[in-house]
Amino acid sequence: MSAERIDGKAFAADLRERVGAIAADFENTAGRKAGLAVVLVGDDPASTVYVRSKGKATVAANMASFEHRLPADTSDDSLLALVEQLNNDPAVDGILVQLPLPAHLDEQTIISAISPDKDVDGFHVINAGRLSVGQSGFVPCTPLGCIMLLTDRLGDLSGLEAVVIGRSNIVGKPMAQLLLDANATVTIAHSRTKDLPAVVRRADIVVAAVGRAHMVKKDWLKDGATVIDVGINRLPPAEGEEKGRLVGDVDYQDVADTAGAITPVPGGVGPMTIAVLLRNTLVAAHRNAAIDLAEGAI
Ligand code: NAD
Repeated sequence: MSAERIDGKAFAADLRERVGAIAADFENTAGRKAGLAVVLVGDDPASTVYVRSKGKATVAANMASFEHRLPADTSDDSLLALVEQLNNDPAVDGILVQLPLPAHLDEQTIISAISPDKDVDGFHVINAGRLSVGQSGFVPCTPLGCIMLLTDRLGDLSGLEAVVIGRSNIVGKPMAQLLLDANATVTIAHSRTKDLPAVVRRADIVVAAVGRAHMVKKDWLKDGATVIDVGINRLPPAEGEEKGRLVGDVDYQDVADTAGAITPVPGGVGPMTIAVLLRNTLVAAHRNAAIDLAEGAI
């Protein structure tokens, strides 16, 4: 049997549309648009593309986008001053500082300076803490997008065995926390895990967030497992190609007959990240303006 393809692109388009409709209502009620400020330091080509597409998606969802581009040699102090200005700006509901920052800047210091109530990326330690004790805060966009895809497909995750491969602060750890909150039995695997294939074979749900092309093969999977592939890896260009193909951490072709369902790369988890960022910004706007947003509306 061939695995069902989990269409993250379509799910994300639907989420962006719902966010756009609620953002229009927000504007009518609040008398202003919900606003997202994105700060880009330097001119890393991939970051420049991400920032541009975040800006476009924000405007398309009836929200205001404020883009701040700073030169690569910006000092900690000037970046902190900008963050402080955005923290105090009532038109700004969400602040995102595009990572990675140039090496001379301290990412933790900068992220800690963002007001936790405007930290729509969910990277501030206060929001990591809120997630771990079950208080409402902001959850990192990529894992929140993954849990949305999982609950959409599987419904109740109670008692399911979930294995998260990767333990980063932005994907693996919050992903495991969300699965735990959904009552799954969770294992976090990582670079030091012994016999990784045997660990992964226990899983009803596999989330791969490593950054190694085609690492997960079919003999790693239990029959019918649901696979969420977070990895984004560029293969070396094949003959006649200018750029190599983008692939995930899971060997999609290889696992197609074993997995029950799987997210493709591209078109799976990737599009969810920006859609959830818009969702988090709209949630922040409602909180900042003290306007109720029905539980589970977005
Ligand atoms: P990271 O480098 O911070 O973490 C990678 C994790 O993989 C580490 O915790 C490490 O322990 C684990 N690991 C490394 N080698 C391993 C091995 N051989 N076996 C098992 N585990 C191993 O990366 P990250 O920021 O968590 O991102 C992971 C992947 O997800 C990357 O490919 C990244 O590009 C992608 N990503 C995608 C999105 C998206 O929007 N789709 C968002 C964030 C990250």
